[in-house]
Amino acid sequence: MNDSAMKKAYLALQQHIRHSMAASPLADKMPLVIGASKTQPEPVLEAAIAAGLRDFGENRMQEAQAKWPALKHAHPEVRLHYIGKLQSNKVQEAVALFDVIHTLDRAKLADALKREMDVQNRQPMVLIQVNTGEEPQKSGVRPAELEALLAHCKAIDLPITGLMCVPPAEQAPAPHFALLYKLAQQYGLKELSMGMSGDYIHATQMGATMLRIGTALFGARQ
Ligand SMILES: *Cc1c(COP(=O)(O)O)cnc(C)c1O
Repeated sequence: MNDSAMKKAYLALQQHIRHSMAASPLADKMPLVIGASKTQPEPVLEAAIAAGLRDFGENRMQEAQAKWPALKHAHPEVRLHYIGKLQSNKVQEAVALFDVIHTLDRAKLADALKREMDVQNRQPMVLIQVNTGEEPQKSGVRPAELEALLAHCKAIDLPITGLMCVPPAEQAPAPHFALLYKLAQQYGLKELSMGMSGDYIHATQMGATMLRIGTALFGARQ
């Protein structure tokens, strides 16, 4: 994708988001657009930065470490979001490279993050991933276990800023977004990371503050 195609795609996306907000009282502020850039090579990332995108999400630590340190150095205004499954043995890399971690889902990982944040004296924003569809193969804490995980994070002094979900692929996303919104309200959490290329309109209308957009921005994955 060249610079002008990328600019067009980004502008069109922003227009769709703005248009969808007009109809919804829950969408009171333009959500942050995060480019889900897994598999996208450096020239595509450069084109997206040139088009004005500042936030990028990656799923695999190894790939992120190969692609981003040099780009981040060249573009210090870029913010990196970790949106993949986080292994405990990758916490050091995650805290060093990322500005927002969307996928905390267990107490042991919270402990490891807190420890590493203290060691590095870096405080990435942390969101808890909720497995709203209670799918056995999917990451995320079950809704019923969220309260206990939040209490644990509070006890170890790890601030939690919001919630994230990936609805089951074969279901209507709206009930999952509604559940995430309700949980965030219940626990006084500000950020709602929900909505991808196929359902970002719904997510925006249901109060998303962060959208994770891959194909609708970058085209098909390589
Ligand atoms: C890849 C990915 C996205 C973006 O998916 P698209 O359908 O391409 O927009 C969003 N969130 C997560 C967690 C992803 O892995």
